[in-house]
Amino acid sequence: MKVTELELLEKLKVNFGYDSFRLNQQEIITNILEKKDTLVIMPTGGGKSICYQLPALFFEGITLVISPLIALMKDQVDSLKANGIPAMFYNSTQSKEEQDLVFNAIAEKTIKLLYVAPESLPFLQNILNQTYVSCVAIDEAHCISSWGHDFRPSYKQLAFLKKTLPEVPVVALTATADKATQEDIIKQLAIPSAIRFINSFNRENISLEVRPGNERIKQIISFIKEHPNESGIIYCLSRKATEQLTRKLQQQQIDARAYHAGLAVEERSKTQEAFVRDDVQIICATVAFGMGIDKSNVRWVIHYNMPKNIEGYYQEIGRSGRDGLPAKALLFHSYADVIQLRQFIENTTNKEVQEAKLDRMKQFAEATVCRRKILLSYFGELIEENCGNCDVCKNPPQFFDGTVIAQKALSAIYRLQGKEAMGTVIDVLRGAQNATVLDKQYNTLKTYGVGKEISWKDWQHYMVQLVNQGFCQIAFHLNNALQLTDFSSKVLFKGEKVELTTPVAVKKEEKRTVTKLTKSTAKDSLFERLRALRYRIATEEDIAAYLVFNDATLKEIERERPQSDEEFLAISGVGQRKLEVYGGEFMEEIKNFLQEKKRKKKDTVVETYKLYSQGLTVEEIAEARGLKAPTIFSHLSKLYLEGKDINLDEFTTPETIKLVANAKKVLNNETALKPYFEFLGEKVPYEQIRVALTILQKKR
Ligand code: ADP
Ligand code: ZN
Repeated sequence: MKVTELELLEKLKVNFGYDSFRLNQQEIITNILEKKDTLVIMPTGGGKSICYQLPALFFEGITLVISPLIALMKDQVDSLKANGIPAMFYNSTQSKEEQDLVFNAIAEKTIKLLYVAPESLPFLQNILNQTYVSCVAIDEAHCISSWGHDFRPSYKQLAFLKKTLPEVPVVALTATADKATQEDIIKQLAIPSAIRFINSFNRENISLEVRPGNERIKQIISFIKEHPNESGIIYCLSRKATEQLTRKLQQQQIDARAYHAGLAVEERSKTQEAFVRDDVQIICATVAFGMGIDKSNVRWVIHYNMPKNIEGYYQEIGRSGRDGLPAKALLFHSYADVIQLRQFIENTTNKEVQEAKLDRMKQFAEATVCRRKILLSYFGELIEENCGNCDVCKNPPQFFDGTVIAQKALSAIYRLQGKEAMGTVIDVLRGAQNATVLDKQYNTLKTYGVGKEISWKDWQHYMVQLVNQGFCQIAFHLNNALQLTDFSSKVLFKGEKVELTTPVAVKKEEKRTVTKLTKSTAKDSLFERLRALRYRIATEEDIAAYLVFNDATLKEIERERPQSDEEFLAISGVGQRKLEVYGGEFMEEIKNFLQEKKRKKKDTVVETYKLYSQGLTVEEIAEARGLKAPTIFSHLSKLYLEGKDINLDEFTTPETIKLVANAKKVLNNETALKPYFEFLGEKVPYEQIRVALTILQKKR
């Protein structure tokens, strides 16, 4: 089918509200419209859905969307309907009547898209022909491959689709596919000539940060307080940890809930739904959480513990910032976690593979070069420039000569005969007086207390680096005892230099961003009012809040303050239907907001007038109202111009008025005060200039 670029752009605006395509979207859509099989690999949030939803509008028959997640289907269909696109889903949870409605709609060609789970395909035999079906889209296509991390047996049978519908283009979409999985998808779907579109895995809007895991809870609480009202997910290793953390956050009046596979199905889906609807701000979850989540305004993801591998980490942080706005990924790294993960792996079948993956994860966490480079190189993608949006880029590590520190540490390990774990080694170095140290008489060792001047935390930081550089090692099979290596002697006896990095203190967010945040999240800010309105509408319509407008769109509405249909339609994310259905209420809210602001301004002037009439001086009024004198002068000027009985003459002299009148002529009726101040040799105070100008204005 030949469709012009203009037609595509028009549909994009009318039905999705966007003005331009993202990378590869247009090429993919054109390809599908030409009825060619297509493989789309795009990171989460890249905009895969539009790739098959937009062509669906041009096709005569339906676009059949195969999706493994029944829980998501309703949201996807709601989202399409909100944009004025008729769509339905078919699955085993529906009643016979509901299913009949679906068949009718297909026969009468009144819907454009139909979502089905692969298990339900056998029940659709009647409509699985080329009269009714114009396109097949297979979402989460990696589920077909047993090499992927998320294999679903029900996907295995999908090859029959191409056989049954040979003329119909098949589009396979996924966010995770290494080379092997890609080949597998193409083979299993029987689409050997599929054209491939592969987008970068780089999610530039997600900033990356790794912090040492000390006092995590304290750090998390202050992080959350610095990001009020922002949705976030905290991933923990164990179910118990999710619940403990949730309780601790709740004690701080933080709106958090736990989610893990041990909870009843009903409770889990309730929690998930509440999160998607912005009813609950934070989820503390195990990795069980997230696969079925389609929420575009998750602003941050915290890893309370280090994930098992980079695939998992990437996928989990990818749940933030799907709307393209800045998002944050914060990982806490501790040696205890690494040790625990290693123990998990110990009894698994493919131990070597998993250990290698864990090592890569650890290298990422301990990196002293741009973290995004490491992350992307893991997926075979090389970037030349440092990203500038990770903690290493923002705060490059400072190296110093740590030879003496290394010598102290290694000789302590030597004196302890490689029998003690990191904690005790540090205790000995710092001359601690605890039971272990005293019982074993470590206080008599030569190295006891030689590292007193270095804090426990910093010692930990240095020890990890010594391990990473191979100067000592952790014997995982011997209770994680620290032992010397072949390299150790170079440092201990041959004077080899050791470079260490300075521990970085976790800095508070820059003040600037904090104040900006609190400003835009203040309860009576326009954004919060728009958010509340969105919430009300979503609840009434029984859909997720982001389906009304996502955060990016809401932010633009706040910024632009549209007041006409035309202006409202110009907002990115507002299409024809959303303008018609929601435009009125949102513009009404903006109007109210602006009027209230005006009224408040008026109220404050009235208040000043009241005090002035009671005979208070300007200073007294300022004092009473907690305002500055210049503000009071501006109120009085305003009242004076309105014709109220204000005696401005008492604040100035006829000479000053003459000077200002003269300046006014020279300055060409300038209205700003500063040019007068300068013209008059900085001798006449600002408020006098203001008063004189007001008097002159009234005279004319
Ligand atoms: P994916 O399925 O790849 O994870 P989605 O299809 O859910 O991503 O899209 C992610 C977000 O980006 C959605 O909010 C979507 O509306 C938005 N989006 C998609 N295409 C565009 C575009 N061309 N311009 C602006 N926003 C877009
Ligand atoms: Zn970087």
